[in-house]
Amino acid sequence: MLLEGRDVTVAFGAFRAVDGASVGVREGEVLGLIGPNGAGKSTFFNCLTGDLTPTQGSVHFAGQDVTRLPPEDRAALGIARSFQVPLTFEGMSVLDNVMIGAFLRTAHTGEARERAGAVIERVGLAPFAHASARSLGTPGRKRLEIARALATEPKVLLLDEAMAGLTPTEVRQAIALVRAIHQSGITLVIVEHIMEVIVTLAERVVVFNQGREIANGTPAEVTSEPQVIEAYLGKRAARAMRRGA
Ligand code: ADP
Ligand code: MG
Repeated sequence: MLLEGRDVTVAFGAFRAVDGASVGVREGEVLGLIGPNGAGKSTFFNCLTGDLTPTQGSVHFAGQDVTRLPPEDRAALGIARSFQVPLTFEGMSVLDNVMIGAFLRTAHTGEARERAGAVIERVGLAPFAHASARSLGTPGRKRLEIARALATEPKVLLLDEAMAGLTPTEVRQAIALVRAIHQSGITLVIVEHIMEVIVTLAERVVVFNQGREIANGTPAEVTSEPQVIEAYLGKRAARAMRRGA
């Protein structure tokens, strides 16, 4: 595994948002993480990126124990993320926002600007490079999030609901972008609510429910498993579906 959580538990008081989950992504893979709202996806994801330290368990990257490393140190190793709620610097330009990511790899402003410009081109934001981040719409903000992460030159990129709030057309464009990112050699972990995104992009899917993995397999495998259907639809609807009602 390139990046993995082993037996990860995250407790908030007496409540376990993640309860003994062991999930990892292999180098070169696109791993999808799905599950109903509140299943613990983002909490587990935050343990992989260093935004949270697990109460129990450990996180490993390329054979190294990174459980106690803060996000900046993990970014230096090659772990990058997007946030579910974009964390852009509103008053700054798109280019300056992406340069923040590029400064992880270079101290030279000119070089950071050049690298950021190339990433902005790659994500389709070139016409807005000098516009303020504030002026972007939802799809632009999502792309800016991805651009800032890409500018850190990650080995693995973690996307948390990077396509939420997009129209179907924008989702298809975003899928094409994520596919191109994968083809450039970056390993991906995608947390996503939109099933089309998972089915199209993920080679393997882990389904979370109540802080635990309840299924693991190809998109076709996991979406046909009764306990997955039940987790999403509730017991009654799952029974009705099995009866063919
Ligand atoms: P998902 O991303 O699958 O929708 P989350 O990981 O965001 O789920 O949340 C899992 C559960 O943990 C939810 O019940 C949520 O309310 C709870 N939770 C998340 N963060 C905190 C926190 N900082 N303090 C207390 N409870 C939290
Ligand atoms: Mg979430």
